[in-house]
Amino acid sequence: MIRFFRVLLIICIALVFCMGAGLQAKPKLKNIIIISVDTLRADHLSCYGYPLNTSPAIDSLAADGVKFSHCYALTPLTAPSFTTMFTSLPPHKHGAKRNGLSVYRTIKTLPEYLKRYGYKTAAIISNWPLRKKLLGIHRGFDSFIEVFTNKRYMMGLTNPEGQSPRVNKKALAWLKKNRKRRFFLWIQYTDPHAPYETHKGFRFDYKKVPTSTYPPGTRMKRIKKYDSEIAFNDHQIGIILNKLKELGLYEDSLIIFHSDHGESFGEHNYFKHGKRLYNSTLHVPLIVKLPGNQIKNTVRHENVSLIDVSPTITSILNMRPIKHMEGLALFNNDQPLLNRKIVCETYGGTVLFRRKSKKYHLKVKPIRYAVIENSQKIIYNKKHKSYEAYQLNNDFFETKDIYRSDSSHLINLKQLIENYVTQISTFIKLTTKRRINEGALSKEDIDALRSLGYIE
Ligand SMILES: [Zn+2]
Repeated sequence: MIRFFRVLLIICIALVFCMGAGLQAKPKLKNIIIISVDTLRADHLSCYGYPLNTSPAIDSLAADGVKFSHCYALTPLTAPSFTTMFTSLPPHKHGAKRNGLSVYRTIKTLPEYLKRYGYKTAAIISNWPLRKKLLGIHRGFDSFIEVFTNKRYMMGLTNPEGQSPRVNKKALAWLKKNRKRRFFLWIQYTDPHAPYETHKGFRFDYKKVPTSTYPPGTRMKRIKKYDSEIAFNDHQIGIILNKLKELGLYEDSLIIFHSDHGESFGEHNYFKHGKRLYNSTLHVPLIVKLPGNQIKNTVRHENVSLIDVSPTITSILNMRPIKHMEGLALFNNDQPLLNRKIVCETYGGTVLFRRKSKKYHLKVKPIRYAVIENSQKIIYNKKHKSYEAYQLNNDFFETKDIYRSDSSHLINLKQLIENYVTQISTFIKLTTKRRINEGALSKEDIDALRSLGYIE
């Protein structure tokens, strides 16, 4: 009898131990896939309300995930914006303030962190400023595959690129080879970036599109080509999503879709991106498809930013937070997003060279700042020391500057932006001794950056 109770006691202790171990055990880590489309305005995707069917594949991902309706880039430029996503720091802190400048070596990036958790990591990129020798964002990637169809600039002419099929070719081959590993894959497309090209089979009829769809000043000729690029790129994304489903990797993976910045088509008398801080270039799509398609087909309306992507990934997968990261975990209820302030900065789209040495300037400060809080936005132009303000809930295209008419209501916001200007300027002053890749641009790099509009 005593022996029976002893055995029972041992079984009970073992059961308690196993249950305890089970509760404490970390959930299984999931595959992570980030799909980025360069230069993609959120409002040109069907799932973000565009009246044309430009994005059936991206829409299907949104239906399986959580769509953020108000996501902003902190800066409307490729290298700084992607670096913000992977470091969760604003440009003045990560160092890659312009295309052509690199991230500070001392800053750890998301892929470097994921390596510690045993992830096989790969990036397939297709935009010149992201090249490893320029930006340094390749750190932490086991494979960093650079895909360029053509030189973008040759004899003074730009060559349009339809390169997403080539990106896919590399991505599909990588997936086939690594599908049984725990992986982090970043696929970066660039089709909607200028110069725009119309793709056969991806044209739209604009007759029934309401004119209110577009901000005043929009050039429709450019829009038509741009939409064709989006639809063509979306088709290629559909191929990747289908392949993930076919391989049984879709359902269980964490998939994030976003853009690095938007594009301006003549509104505010401005074209392309990089220098201004209007929503045409700051408002970007962000879709998070959780493992197991949890809380699918959901829309979140808080103000969020690409700075939140890395902390969100580590939080969803129950990893330890990365200390230096300043963004918020978007599915962590302990971190309220209400009344959040999104602080944007831009240094201009171009790489500025010193005239004689041909080395570029590092000690640059932002030329414009913006703060978005709830539905209010204020923009500060440093050169002209001027302000603009907009009420975004009824004027998302920023057509009516309310700064002069309503400035008494904006005192807090003005004070806020002035504080940021001082803080950022002080920070830059303190960090200008950090050496990065000064003088490392080759003639080929300069040609490529010029063709993209980044060198004047
Ligand atoms: Zn870009």
